[in-house]
Amino acid sequence: MAKEQKVDRQVFDEVMVPCYAPMQMIPVRGEGSRVWDQDGREYIDFAGGIAVSCLGHCQPVMVSALTEQAGKLWHLSNVMTNEPALRLARLLTEHSFADKVFFANSGAEANEAALKLARRYAADQFGPEKSEIIAFHQGFHGRTFFTVTVGGQTAYSDGFGPKPGDVTHLAYNDLEGLAAHISDRTCAVMMEPLQGEGGIISPTSEFVQGVRELCDKYRALLIFDEVQTGNGRTGSFYAYQDLGVEPDILSTAKSLGAGFPIGAMLTTDSLAKHLKVGTHGSTYGGNPLACAVAEAVVGEVTKPEVLAGVKEREHWFRDALMAINAKYPIFDEVRGKGLLLGAALNSEWQGRARDILVAAGEEGLLVLVAGANVVRFTPSLVISREEFDCGMTRFEQAVAKLYLS
Ligand SMILES: *Cc1c(COP(=O)(O)O)cnc(C)c1O
Repeated sequence: MAKEQKVDRQVFDEVMVPCYAPMQMIPVRGEGSRVWDQDGREYIDFAGGIAVSCLGHCQPVMVSALTEQAGKLWHLSNVMTNEPALRLARLLTEHSFADKVFFANSGAEANEAALKLARRYAADQFGPEKSEIIAFHQGFHGRTFFTVTVGGQTAYSDGFGPKPGDVTHLAYNDLEGLAAHISDRTCAVMMEPLQGEGGIISPTSEFVQGVRELCDKYRALLIFDEVQTGNGRTGSFYAYQDLGVEPDILSTAKSLGAGFPIGAMLTTDSLAKHLKVGTHGSTYGGNPLACAVAEAVVGEVTKPEVLAGVKEREHWFRDALMAINAKYPIFDEVRGKGLLLGAALNSEWQGRARDILVAAGEEGLLVLVAGANVVRFTPSLVISREEFDCGMTRFEQAVAKLYLS
């Protein structure tokens, strides 16, 4: 009986906490870079569930990893370890600077672990005065109270009472500002190696290198939040690998599970030992189902041809967007790296990113925004040429309709 009762968008308003404003249509099925809604209408997916669905929808390797594990063992808790978690942790250390891994269930939780490790290490090693966390305006690190406070948008962190203390926000890409502020009291600097939610802002190489040097000078830890940039998104497995600097702690989530919830904090032996038995934990963290899926995903994404394919697809997007812009000039620039791209609106189109998202939806295309002035594209890393062409045709139709109206 219950199954036959059709649910629609109205039910959201009736029974869901109104912290989201979802689109009217409700997708029910996905394959590759296409999804279909309740009425069978097809959409091309350039959004990838916000930089998550890195292998598209229901990719066979993922489906078999999940279903195989589902027939074996779902959950234990961390009273025991499990084979998928051990294999995934080893894989992540082989493909990064890290020696040690802590598993969580989301990006915010991975960042929470990173911040707690940094604070604990500084307290153990240097004493209670070394507690300042420096982060950057427009940065985004998740929605737990610590991570949202470290994030650089007070609109997200205000209104919940007293915040976790000793967090300072400075301007991204302003090395002088950081040099003037950082001190022996600084415990850690946390940054995205390409700001995603904040508008697709790349760091200058001078900035990332300078941040690393200043952290070394003041014995502050460098935390890279790679929740959005990680797992192949920018064309290397982690973005830091193409920037010439290594963090001390890295957080990863989103594309790590490609649609199955998982997050991880990666770090070195010498830091990891400060999270002794009982200092931190998670019931679900390292869950066998999540780890089995992520193991399959990492196996795919670390293939050289997949990473090379990201760079190739970046050119598809840049070329097509510039061609559309030549006909209907609404963008100033296309920025970002790999398949974390933003088309920034020009002065006449300020504030209209959401209008473009809505118009694209009407044409059967899913895109994202990053703030009011940037249309964001975070598609599957393996989107086919046919899916891409079909999506871009729809994007051009959406832009044309808005431009000519
Ligand atoms: C999405 C995101 C997060 C938060 O991840 P959740 O899984 O939503 O908790 C944190 N940092 C960055 C850079 C992100 O893009």
